[in-house]
Amino acid sequence: TSVFEKVPAAPADAIFALTAAYKADTHPNKVDLGIGAYRTNEGKPWVLPVVKKADRAMVNDDNLDHEYLPILGLMPFRMAAAKLILGANSNAIADGRVGAVQCISGTGAVFTGAQFLARHYPVKGAECYISKPTWANHRAIFEGVGIPVREYPYWDPVTKGLDLKGLLGTMQTAPAGSIFLLHPCAHNPTGVDPTPEQWKQIADVMVAKGHFTFFDCAYQGFASGNLARDAFSVRHFAERGIELFVAQSFSKNFGLYSERAGNLTIVARTPQIKDQIESQIAKSQRAVISNPPAYGSRIVNLVLNDPQLNREWEENLSTMANRIIDMRKALFDELTKLGTPGKWDHIVNQIGMFSFTGLTTAQVKVMKDKYHIYLTDNGRISMAGINTNNVKYVAQAIDDVVR
Ligand code: PLP
Repeated sequence: TSVFEKVPAAPADAIFALTAAYKADTHPNKVDLGIGAYRTNEGKPWVLPVVKKADRAMVNDDNLDHEYLPILGLMPFRMAAAKLILGANSNAIADGRVGAVQCISGTGAVFTGAQFLARHYPVKGAECYISKPTWANHRAIFEGVGIPVREYPYWDPVTKGLDLKGLLGTMQTAPAGSIFLLHPCAHNPTGVDPTPEQWKQIADVMVAKGHFTFFDCAYQGFASGNLARDAFSVRHFAERGIELFVAQSFSKNFGLYSERAGNLTIVARTPQIKDQIESQIAKSQRAVISNPPAYGSRIVNLVLNDPQLNREWEENLSTMANRIIDMRKALFDELTKLGTPGKWDHIVNQIGMFSFTGLTTAQVKVMKDKYHIYLTDNGRISMAGINTNNVKYVAQAIDDVVR
């Protein structure tokens, strides 16, 4: 007998299971609109040309070795990541009150910040508010570290846009000092972001209620193609002197999915408080990963700290962002041509990797069973999976399932 006999089997992760089902499908017209990973117009993963360049520079660098990184990670990478999100002219950076911790990509950065809050956030019984809907891992991570999770309204199914009133209302009524997890740009799964004006209103309430701001930034530069525009919300909050955490992922904007390059940027009230927080996170990080992996952070570091490579990266970002924006337009045009029932302008208005189509779970099932088009049950499609070769087919399938 085994001591583990009574361990119940856990369900498979929905999104990775969807990818596996797509891969196993042998239909020639199959389409993967599931996982949030960039694809070229040929439906292939893309190694960014600037990443290839950095790669070659590293291979030829005889000074690189495989020694451990420090517990908090590669110092110049951490600083470059903080500067990328807060801006080169950030007052908080100039004041010396910005900390940074290299983490296991965006997921690890959310976990690291959440674990710190579970241990050191002083508001007794504070709960974490996540958007409804959100990336499924948010709930799993916060509940995993013992912080209860609640939801704030976000998606308005009628307008297929932002439910600002619901969001602000929940922020107003939440107990003072609650934790709010916010997506700074390219909201996953809805593709709906607040406008700069709306972000100011959100910041007003966050300040008035003394809530703690936790940004999860997985798509900087990937949403609009412009790094500063995608960082507006974070920079606005920081400029107003708000203490905050930002989890940063370099999976999407560098195409470094498997390399787990990420960072947690910490904006604290004073340099001393920043040091206190970093020291506690170093202590926790030692017990979880001991020290982070080097490869991805070295690539990001090379690119961010070299003006020429940095420019090339921005061009690569535009290539990705613009192809996705073009595909939004193409899908919208096809649906319009077909006279598909309903309003579809949300497809072009939404931003980033995903579009929240409004398709029901039943319709999603027909998309999969009849058309071999794979998307998540909530009707979210990864725009990166659409290309000039399959956009007609996808539009026809959508047209069929909504009629
Ligand atoms: N946060 C959000 C909202 C995401 O959509 C993702 C990826 O899909 C992540 C974080 C983290 O991704 P990674 O751990 O690959 O950086």
